[in-house]
Amino acid sequence: MEKLRKSEIYERCVAAWAIEHFDFIDVTITANAKIFGTISKRSRQIDVLLEDRAQGNPDARVIVEAKLHGRPVDIEVIEATEAKLRDVNAAYAIVVSSGGFTKSAISRSEDYVGLIPLEYDFLIDEYSNAFCNCLANADCGSETLLWAVDKVDGVGLAWLMYKYGKCVRCQTFHVFCQDCDSEFSIPDGHTVMCGCDDREWGAIPESESSGHIDLPESTWLIV
Ligand SMILES: [Zn+2]
Ligand SMILES: [Zn+2]
Repeated sequence: MEKLRKSEIYERCVAAWAIEHFDFIDVTITANAKIFGTISKRSRQIDVLLEDRAQGNPDARVIVEAKLHGRPVDIEVIEATEAKLRDVNAAYAIVVSSGGFTKSAISRSEDYVGLIPLEYDFLIDEYSNAFCNCLANADCGSETLLWAVDKVDGVGLAWLMYKYGKCVRCQTFHVFCQDCDSEFSIPDGHTVMCGCDDREWGAIPESESSGHIDLPESTWLIV
């Protein structure tokens, strides 16, 4: 990840951190997402977007803002984040800061804005190895694919072991099927067979009501 700006590296590592901390919901993580703001009527950039894969559960939309600053994050950032949370219909927001938070920022943060200090060096040590190479697009460069946690799902009478993830650059879904030991990407709106018999994987394009614009088109994965 040497060629990236420091702030970009920080953001990516925050995405990897978020996966570890939100593995209790069936979550899709999108780095650098764009959501149409229902209040502002314009595109809002989200550093790290977490959404529940069970469609129709808007409560599970969480936005994470990553702030790489030498100084503590102040109250204005918290207020802006709170406004963004409303604009994109998220239930909760987290501001991650490398420089901590001011007292007024802390007192201004309410129940639905969490403040988490995460130092740059700590994040790099812990999470810079979390990325693999994108299989969908050679232009994405190296180390842009971020896997989420290992999953076990019941499908019919069988158990299915796999993990899934997205490229932080082209946003394409990837799957690692542990049953046939294959790793592959799934283009938006397409289905792909893995090495197992009768097993098809699909990346479902977003509905318009979700507010996703540009990339990514697909937030949901079906088996
Ligand atoms: Zn890619
Ligand atoms: Zn398989």
